[in-house]
Amino acid sequence: MGQTQTKYDAVVVGGGHNGLTAAAYLARAGLSTLVLERREIVGGCCVTEEIAPGCRCSTTSYIASMLRPEVIQDLNLAAHGLRMVPCDPAIQVPFPDGHVVPWWAERARAKEEFARISPKDAETFVRVDDQLKKLARYLQPFFLEPPPEIDIGSMTGWADLFKLGSRFRGISSEEIAQLVAFLTGSLGEFLDHNYESEKIKTLFLANNVYGKHGGPYQPGTAIGLLFHLLSGGEHELQGFYGHVMGGMGSITQALASSGKKLGVEIRTAAPVARIDLRNGRAIGVTLEDGTEVRARVVLSNADPKRTFLGMLNEKDLPSEFVHAIRGIKMDGPCAKVNFVLSEEPRFTGTDKTATPLERTFFTLVPSLEFAERCYDIAKFGDVPEELWVDCVISSNADDSLAPAGKHILTCFVQYVPYRLREGNWDEKRELLGDRVVKKIAEYAPNVPNSIMARQVLTPLDLERTYGLTEGNIFHGDLRLEQLFFMRPVAGWSQYRSPIDGLYLCGAGAHPGGGVTGAPGHNAAHQVLRDWKKGRFKDAAS
Ligand SMILES: Cc1cc2nc3c(=O)[nH]c(=O)nc-3n(C[C@H](O)[C@H](O)[C@H](O)COP(=O)(O)OP(=O)(O)OC[C@H]3O[C@@H](n4cnc5c(N)ncnc54)[C@H](O)[C@@H]3O)c2cc1C
Repeated sequence: MGQTQTKYDAVVVGGGHNGLTAAAYLARAGLSTLVLERREIVGGCCVTEEIAPGCRCSTTSYIASMLRPEVIQDLNLAAHGLRMVPCDPAIQVPFPDGHVVPWWAERARAKEEFARISPKDAETFVRVDDQLKKLARYLQPFFLEPPPEIDIGSMTGWADLFKLGSRFRGISSEEIAQLVAFLTGSLGEFLDHNYESEKIKTLFLANNVYGKHGGPYQPGTAIGLLFHLLSGGEHELQGFYGHVMGGMGSITQALASSGKKLGVEIRTAAPVARIDLRNGRAIGVTLEDGTEVRARVVLSNADPKRTFLGMLNEKDLPSEFVHAIRGIKMDGPCAKVNFVLSEEPRFTGTDKTATPLERTFFTLVPSLEFAERCYDIAKFGDVPEELWVDCVISSNADDSLAPAGKHILTCFVQYVPYRLREGNWDEKRELLGDRVVKKIAEYAPNVPNSIMARQVLTPLDLERTYGLTEGNIFHGDLRLEQLFFMRPVAGWSQYRSPIDGLYLCGAGAHPGGGVTGAPGHNAAHQVLRDWKKGRFKDAAS
């Protein structure tokens, strides 16, 4: 039999990094705040977990690139144990001919490396890098605020439009054309148009369509070039890529610790069954065990489908809203395979003088054509024989992750289907693991015989274990029609929902997925603005 417990100012459904971020900001403003997480641990898909005795791994997300510097500073995450080391090379691609091409973090060094392959491409790299960084700076301010509501029938709509326009003050018509091209064009066509070397094109491919639906020649894939040049890390570096000491879970542990210090209460193993309403407004939640928790405002860190279709009754929402939420493209196209190894992978062609940190990151994708074919196969529901595998030997960046003599290899697998044409993922899990091992062995032949433990996370496992609907790592694909004022759906991009007192604070809201803390930060600030207006005074008593 359920029981009603203390009433809070705010309850946050889900303790992913965005839920924790939102909770910490709310508590900092003085709101009594409770986080309810369905798993035994907080972190969502930003966690470090033991995959074999004494061996810890960033089981899901594995590189910190866009965590907002403002969040790191506001919540004092360094004092709560967060430490990041830049990935250098930021990315590195070994090719089947034994040539390993690093993309060094320092631009002059990167240019020098590229010039060995194509002096013309090295020059182009600098020109394009300048252009992209400049364009990314126009987008940067939108990251930490609600998108405009495009509604010319209201004063706020006009004010939002005016503000939007003023952000682009000084932009030239040429830059507008470039911006539109990056937002709508295909990565493949952009690279073919600008570069001559297949290797250099592949290097740029390697870090720009992660987790996205669509091969590199699909319109809308060039957007990744801009997203990855938004600043990140403690020091606001454009294009920052970082290894997190202690694994990605150190981010969420630091957020939880900072939140607790500010007064946040966190309960794990507390799955929320439904969001409760009275007279059309949110008054709290009921847990699966029947416990009722009352709050003036409810924030959901779960994805939009899980929140609105899973925790509410459809009849309580406008039918057109339900229709729009159902239409969000999820269908996660990736998987993760984690290993404990008895020896470090030896990638053929690696420079003999490379330091352990320089031997950490290897992306196995030989060409754009390979990637496009891989997507085509996955798109029709099959598991490609030849996979795109991103390998990070995280114990080379942080040897505390495994006992001496053991190594952690974490692999992101791009382009597998959520919906299989034949069979199911429980039957095909080990097939996926075997194909990943086969691919790695082509580049690092010592890996198959050094495997001590293997964890395969299919899109279905991402859904079951981490609560990601359809295994989508971003709570909704990052495509133009699902971004900005159209995220999660048009008309509801400012974190509010058709239910009074219910807000979305996770990656399904603007600006989207990735470990950024931005949706959590923005949602909390929206709640606080509404709080100050007295919107929740009469709520749930
Ligand atoms: C395999 C993989 C690799 C990735 N790699 C990277 C990377 O390298 N770099 C990067 O920046 N991003 C990466 N991402 C994406 C990034 O991790 C996510 O987009 C981001 O962490 C989402 O954060 P969130 O807090 O919004 O949601 P989540 O992390 O999904 O958190 C939502 C939380 O809500 C909880 N929840 C859901 N329903 C309920 C309920 N009913 N009751 C209580 N709790 C509930 C869930 O258990 C979960 O803890 C990756 C993701 C995956 C899965």
